[in-house]
Amino acid sequence: MNETATPPPPAAVPYNRLGLDYHNIPPRKIAGLIIDAHTHAHNVDLTRAFLQIADDYSIGRIWTMAPLEDVDAMQAAFPGRFEFIAIPKWQELSSQESFIDDWLRRLDGFRAKGSRLMKFHAAPGTQKRMGMDLDHPQLQRVMKHAWNLGFHFMTHVGDPQDWFGPEKKYKPSDGHKSFAEQFGMLDRMLEQYPGRTHLGAHMGGSVEALDALQQRLDRFPHYRVDSSATKWIVRGIAQQPVSRVRAFFIRYQQRILFGSDLVIGDKYNYDHYASRYWVHRQLWETNYDGQSPIEDPDAPGGIGRLKGLDLPPLVLERIYRTNAEEFFKL
Ligand SMILES: [Zn+2]
Repeated sequence: MNETATPPPPAAVPYNRLGLDYHNIPPRKIAGLIIDAHTHAHNVDLTRAFLQIADDYSIGRIWTMAPLEDVDAMQAAFPGRFEFIAIPKWQELSSQESFIDDWLRRLDGFRAKGSRLMKFHAAPGTQKRMGMDLDHPQLQRVMKHAWNLGFHFMTHVGDPQDWFGPEKKYKPSDGHKSFAEQFGMLDRMLEQYPGRTHLGAHMGGSVEALDALQQRLDRFPHYRVDSSATKWIVRGIAQQPVSRVRAFFIRYQQRILFGSDLVIGDKYNYDHYASRYWVHRQLWETNYDGQSPIEDPDAPGGIGRLKGLDLPPLVLERIYRTNAEEFFKL
């Protein structure tokens, strides 16, 4: 495939524009299981269906953001398979004292069940809905509580760079910070809470700003990022010279964890889940250069370009497994 080929008409399903057979699993560059450090698996039955695909695509242990209420059942159904990332009751998100108190109780509950990592969702939209950013005294209360319990921290701070600006989703006139300003609170958090590993979801929100991410990684040795959010990462990588991105991944091979950001739900089928793992495999393990099979509303014409990085086996070994295994040993 090449760039100049005429694109096919839009496919009926957004996860398979190219009519691929996702049961035909592409070959692996290295053997062994992959750890997926970013999913939203929850509910035993839905998760059981998802695990068929995970098994087919060599996904072993899975880190998930499931509600506290699901943890016991998932641990019983899938012993040892999941690492539970502590989350609040998102549906009730607010800066109200009662929401924060409930969040603290949930942290205690997750910790008692063996959780080691907790998540802050501080994307611009979420901040606006909560009426809080990471500097807010109420979130600082949560952070200190989590710190005292021994939690490591996961953050979602940025969003695609193209979403920021006067005519964009995140307008300054709506009270949103600029893309660059969004990261000040993360830097303060990294300064104020050392001695724990911090995981920046979605390449630390900076796949389009690798120079800035490089500075942050150099400045904060306890910072890691995950590779999750398929469409965004694929798009962000394809916008840049492959050699630049590949060099970044090789240089920071000890700081990047594989993640998919798959959300598990009853509206999703085998091909939807498999499309993400299929694309990730092309992205990291091959020199694929062509259209992505996944529709991307943020890409020109909705057609995403997928450019593989063809990472060396030892780098894949790190990103797929070792970094996740070492994550909690800071
Ligand atoms: Zn996620």
